[in-house]
Amino acid sequence: MSKITMNTPIVEMDGDEMTRILWQMIKEELLLPYVDLNTEYYDLGLEHRNETDDQVTIDAAEATKKHKVAVKCATITPNAARMDEYKLKKMWKSPNGTIRALLDGTVFRAPILVKGVEPAVKNWKRPITLARHAYGDVYKNAEMRIPGPGRVELVYTAADGSQTKELIHQFEGPGVVQGMHNLDASIESFARSCLNFGLDTRQDVWFATKDTISKQYDHHFKDIFQKVYDEEFKDRFEKEDLEYFYTLIDDAVARVMKGEGGFIWACKNYDGDVMSDMVSSACGSLAMMTSVLVSPHGYHEYEAAHGTVQRHYYRHLKGEETSTNPVATIFAWTGALAKRGELDQNQALTDFAHQLEHATLQTIEEGKMTGDLAAMTTIPDPTILNSRAFIQAIAQNIDNTSR
Ligand code: NAP
Ligand code: MG
Repeated sequence: MSKITMNTPIVEMDGDEMTRILWQMIKEELLLPYVDLNTEYYDLGLEHRNETDDQVTIDAAEATKKHKVAVKCATITPNAARMDEYKLKKMWKSPNGTIRALLDGTVFRAPILVKGVEPAVKNWKRPITLARHAYGDVYKNAEMRIPGPGRVELVYTAADGSQTKELIHQFEGPGVVQGMHNLDASIESFARSCLNFGLDTRQDVWFATKDTISKQYDHHFKDIFQKVYDEEFKDRFEKEDLEYFYTLIDDAVARVMKGEGGFIWACKNYDGDVMSDMVSSACGSLAMMTSVLVSPHGYHEYEAAHGTVQRHYYRHLKGEETSTNPVATIFAWTGALAKRGELDQNQALTDFAHQLEHATLQTIEEGKMTGDLAAMTTIPDPTILNSRAFIQAIAQNIDNTSR
């Protein structure tokens, strides 16, 4: 069988610990035998980030702007313990944070559904994609404890010095206050990312906030979404027979629970944080979840939603076999390869990506899986495989269908 060629590279961001081991296995067993892999490689492993004063993370993000498609391995975000463990010069920032800030995007996460790992909500048939706005609100707030009686106001001082005030509360006793903000530009780019992703994946887009209560703040989000939709997307959505609608968050929650899935649920920052944890845990595991950063400029960065699986890595270092689930990392690669194929009109590459996804799910449905899935599957007597054996079983399924 001749290998599939790639004209344009994808940006490959290698990472840390157990996921770095899985990364290598996936390339050896599932990619290199089938694809003449064309990547621009950046080593985002913590040691190399430290050596380059984290310049490599910035270079990798800049390369993503150039080539438009990237695949990223999970990376360590250093804390005090990692400072000692890796003898770091500095407590480097989260690579994901650095990359998101440079690419200005929205993160879309969707569970990978497979027969035998059933969602807790029994009517969910298709994945629910969570789109979380990743700027502002309570994550960039200012807070104050109010010790006793007094007046608390919001004060806006314009560039010309004029002031607008709004009473928050006339305190009779102790309490708390908080102030938060968001930016029109950030909300607009969030709306654009969500609506583009809807067109791209042919799914309806739902957006929900609490605008009945938050008549200015949340209402402003609703208005901006509607304006971006009407001015830039309405025609294309109607042509593709897709729908955008806004509803109250309470109504969205009720509809999500009663629905079948297969739509994009756009959420404000806090709602997205909480609701994505709810959707993913209802669907089984973080290792069964896709995650992609989509920027309004059309850059796509694919990753796994989980971390570097440190505990498994320490067992691996002791020479033990681990049964770490590679599915999310495989789907990060297939997402990137399929997107590359689509942008380059390289149908063979896109087809291969889908074939690999299919072979992965088929392997699990045959009862061969890693330990985390075996612990919750409805398939009787599953075979628990270590990571390499599971990946090889997937390769076997690719070979069987290609023959
Ligand atoms: P984690 O790596 O996601 O692992 C937490 C636990 O979840 C694991 O110990 C394991 O449970 C289970 N798990 C996660 N992924 C799994 C997989 N693929 N297969 C099987 N089990 C899996 O989170 P963490 O331990 O909190 O973080 C470790 C490092 O990852 C940290 O340094 C953190 O900074 C980094 N991190 C990176 C990213 C990213 O780059 N996107 C995201 C989150 C965290 P058992 O041990 O019980 O088997
Ligand atoms: Mg959370």
